[in-house]
Amino acid sequence: MSRRLRLGLFGEAEAPIGPAHEVGYDTGRMNPEGPVTLATAYRTHTLGELRTEHVDAEVSLSGWVNRRRDLGQLIFIDLRDRHGVTQVVIDATESPDAHAAATAVRNEFVLRVQGTVARRREGTENPKLATGEIEIRAASVEVLSWAKTPPFPINEPEDTDETLRLKYRYLDLRREAINHRLVLRSKLLRSLSEVHHKHGFVEVETPILIKSTPEGARDFIVPSRLQPGNIYALPQSPQQLKQLLMVAGFDRYYQIAHCMRDEDARADRGPEFTQLDIEMSFVSQEDVMSFVEMTVAEVTRAVVPDRPIRTSPFPRFSYREAIDRFGSDKPDVRFGMELKDLGEVVRGSGFGVFDNVVESGGRVVGMAAPGLGSATRSQIDELTAMAKRAGAKGLVHMAVDNSGAVTSPVLKFLGEERADQIVAAVGASPGDLVLIVADADIHAQEALGDLRAVLGQRLGLIKDDNELSYLWVYDFPMYKWDKDGNRWDATHNPFSGVQPDDEKLLETATGDFSQLSPSDPAGQARALQHDLVLNGWELGGGSIRIHRHDLLERSFLLQGHSREAMQEKFGAVLDAFEYGAPPHGGIALGIDRWIALLTNQENIREVQAFPKTGTGSDLMLGAPSPAEPAQLAELGLLMAPPREPAKPA
Ligand code: ASP
Repeated sequence: MSRRLRLGLFGEAEAPIGPAHEVGYDTGRMNPEGPVTLATAYRTHTLGELRTEHVDAEVSLSGWVNRRRDLGQLIFIDLRDRHGVTQVVIDATESPDAHAAATAVRNEFVLRVQGTVARRREGTENPKLATGEIEIRAASVEVLSWAKTPPFPINEPEDTDETLRLKYRYLDLRREAINHRLVLRSKLLRSLSEVHHKHGFVEVETPILIKSTPEGARDFIVPSRLQPGNIYALPQSPQQLKQLLMVAGFDRYYQIAHCMRDEDARADRGPEFTQLDIEMSFVSQEDVMSFVEMTVAEVTRAVVPDRPIRTSPFPRFSYREAIDRFGSDKPDVRFGMELKDLGEVVRGSGFGVFDNVVESGGRVVGMAAPGLGSATRSQIDELTAMAKRAGAKGLVHMAVDNSGAVTSPVLKFLGEERADQIVAAVGASPGDLVLIVADADIHAQEALGDLRAVLGQRLGLIKDDNELSYLWVYDFPMYKWDKDGNRWDATHNPFSGVQPDDEKLLETATGDFSQLSPSDPAGQARALQHDLVLNGWELGGGSIRIHRHDLLERSFLLQGHSREAMQEKFGAVLDAFEYGAPPHGGIALGIDRWIALLTNQENIREVQAFPKTGTGSDLMLGAPSPAEPAQLAELGLLMAPPREPAKPA
C-alpha cells in the first residue's frame, strides 16, 4: 500500500485487512492435506482426486457443471465439487449418447459421468489445477438435476451484490473462496476440540432458553406459552452456567457456544455469534492465560500453517501501558507510531488549550505520522474530523518539512523552541506530521489511538500482512463510573475477580454501599481480567472470577444492585457459592472474528454459513417474519403495528 495519504480515503469503508489469503479449486490446493476419497454409489472419486497414476482407470464422477465448451464434435465440461475440478471430454464419435446428453447441459447442472481417465495431450495440461494433467474420456453422461441460470456466476469471484449472495446463500456457498473459509472454520473447530479433549476438558452443552445473563447487551427474549406473561432470554453467553459447572465439580469445561445479543450489527459483530467458551477450576490467571496461549498457537499452526505468529510467547501489556503507548486496549503492535506524553514539554507554554488540560490532570499526547508532512488542508480536515468522531475536542498538527522546519497554526502560541521539543519528543523526522490531542486521561490517548490504528493501515506501516500478532492485555480497571446510573459498572464481566492487593479497595468512600460516588476507592481496583488481541482486534476476554459469596455481594453492591436485585438476577450463582465454590476462571474467544482474521476478511458474514444482514434479516429464509395471529393468541401477546426496520449501525 502506498505511504501517501489519498484524499477521501478516510471516509471509505475499511480496506481489506490484508492480501487475499485464499486457496481454491483453481489453485488445486483446496485440500491442503491432499486429495480426499469419498467413494459412494454415485462416484468412485471426488473431483480433486485424479492424477496421472489413475490413467486408464474406469471412474464414475458426480458434480456440478462449472464450465462447458462446445467445439462441435468435442464438448469439454469442467465438473466441480468442493474438492476440485476435473475436465471431462465428450467425443461424439466415441460416445454419441453421452455427446447428445452433454449438448443439453448448462452451467450448474448436476451430472454423473462414467468414463476412463486419460493423460491430457501434451501442451494442453493445466498446471493451475491439481487434476490438470488428466481428463476423463466420457462413456456416459447422466443429468441428475437440471439448473436454472444462477442469479450470479458461481465460477467467478465474489464481487456480487451481497444482498443477492445472502438470498441465494446455497449458491454463494458453492463458490470456492467462501467454501474454503467454511472448511477452514470446520478445521479450527476440530482442532479446538482435539486440544481441549487432550487436556482433560469436558464438553458440556448449556441450554439456549435461559434466564438472562447480563453481559452488557440487550437480550433476545422468548415468551413462554406454558407460563404466560413470563419470558426466557437467549444466552448472551453461558457465563453463569459455566461457573455453576465449576461449582458442580467439572474442573475443565469447554463449549463452542452460540450466543445472541440484540445489538445493532457491525462488521465484526452480528446478532448471533459463536464463541469458544471455557472455564477452569483451581487455576491462577497465569494458568488460564498459558493454557489459552498454547491452544491458540497450536490451533493456528493446524489451521493456517503458512501464517507465522509474530511474537511468541505472546507479548503482554497492562491496560495502562497499552493505553499510554498505543491509545487502545486492543493495540495493533505490528507498527510503531507510538503515542508520547507531552505533559512536561507543554507545561506552562501559555497555550491555553494545553495548559488547561495539564493543570486539570488531563493528558496532552502526540505521535508522528510518517510521511504525512505534506498533507493538504483537506486531508488535515479529514484527520480532525476523524479525531472528533473518536471523541477528541480537536486535533493539533505540526508539519515537519524536508529541511526539518516546523509549520503549525499553533506555532505562534507555543514558540519555535517548544515546537522543536515536541517534534523531538514524538520522534518525528523531516517529512512527518505531528498529531496532538489534549483531553482527559485515557480519553486523549484513545482518541489519538483511533487515528493511529487507521493511519497504520492507510500508510502501509504494516510490513508483513501475513503475520499474526497475538497479544494479551491485563490489569484492567474493575469498574467504570456510570454517572447516569450513579454506580460502578463492571468494565468487562460482572463476576470478574479483583487483584488480591486491591481487594481492600472494593469499598465506598463513606463505608456505606447505598451511597456510591466517583471518589470511591473501588474506582482504583484492578480486575483479574485478561483480553486476547489479534492484529488490533479483540479476539476475546475472560477473568478469574470472584468465588467468595461475601466478595461477590460487595462487588454487586458497587455495581448498583440492591440485595434483592442481585438475588433476582444472579441468585443461582450467589446461592451456589454457599455450597463450596472452587476458585475458577476462564475466557471466551470469538470464533467468527478469529476465522475472519485468519482468512483476512473484514466482515464476519464472510465466515458464517448463513449470516444475517445488518438489520438482522435472514434473506434466504425470510426471517424475521410476521407472527401468525394464532401463535400470538397462544402466547397471550398483542403485537404493536410494524415499524420501519432499524438502520444498520
Ligand atoms: N462471558 C464472557 C463473554 O462472553 C467471557 C468470559 O468472561 O469468560 O464475553
